[in-house]
Amino acid sequence: MSNNQLLENVKILRKFLFRLLHKAKLTYLILIFVISLGISGWSIESAALRIPIIGFHDIIDAQKTADLPPRRQAFENDYTKQDLSVFLEYLFQQNYWFLSSQDLYVYFLDKSQPIPEQHQGQKPIMITFDDGYKGVHTNALPLLKKLSLLYKENGKFVLFVNPHFLGIALGGKFLPHTTCNDLREGYQKGFYDIQSHGFTHKNLTELNGQDLELEISKSKLALRKCMGDLDKNKIIGAHIAYPYGASDSEVEKILPKYHLTGFLYNDRFLRIQRLRNNYRISRITTDRNTSPRDLIRVAQKASTFRQKNWF
Ligand SMILES: [Zn+2]
Repeated sequence: MSNNQLLENVKILRKFLFRLLHKAKLTYLILIFVISLGISGWSIESAALRIPIIGFHDIIDAQKTADLPPRRQAFENDYTKQDLSVFLEYLFQQNYWFLSSQDLYVYFLDKSQPIPEQHQGQKPIMITFDDGYKGVHTNALPLLKKLSLLYKENGKFVLFVNPHFLGIALGGKFLPHTTCNDLREGYQKGFYDIQSHGFTHKNLTELNGQDLELEISKSKLALRKCMGDLDKNKIIGAHIAYPYGASDSEVEKILPKYHLTGFLYNDRFLRIQRLRNNYRISRITTDRNTSPRDLIRVAQKASTFRQKNWF
């Protein structure tokens, strides 16, 4: 073999090795690309996702004598409009995603739809109010309206209502309740999500058979009667928060006929990956001693949605 031939052979070998390496590199790149496709999308798919769901009751105005003793009895679960304002302002400033109960179900539990891209970089939170008190409508809704306008982003309140008490104000221990029209007004403007809290606020675990089913079904029926024509997607009353946070396996046997999810009141975060039962969704409790700072700390623990990079 001449020197030239040897040189030629070395060249061919080099070319071959180069091509092989190039191909291997390409294969390697394609492999990484395919794997990345699988693990790309929202980082929440793989990370532990934590969603705070905050539970309030009535909202009072600390600067209005009509909302204070002796004119109005004080309750453990009351929260002031002034403190709520600090908390909500923080959520708007930090661009939180105010979830509705159906958002939670569709995007995180059922996962029937991908999370819309506009929520990238946001933290999810759900703000709920139990019992349908009038103070939510007179004291909290104006705050939400004002902030939504200011930040050009609609906030959302989830109201768990007992339809039997709509519009009723007996005085004393029995606080005034929102009317059907209040609910319709807040819903039409996009601020309220209206869901069930049982028909008459009975402890569901203390009811059996027909009584239990009626307490659940009548509530949903009444809410739909009140809101039906506004509810094109039939999601009013599709979800329930248990009165006293109480549910058990007997209750859960009936629930799927009427509701997609059920909310507890147990002072825990909802951790999506750990949730085995859509009828046991955790909520963080509040009372008059919960400071806005406490709530902000809770909100900060929510997971942030981020889109993963390819590598
Ligand atoms: Zn309640």
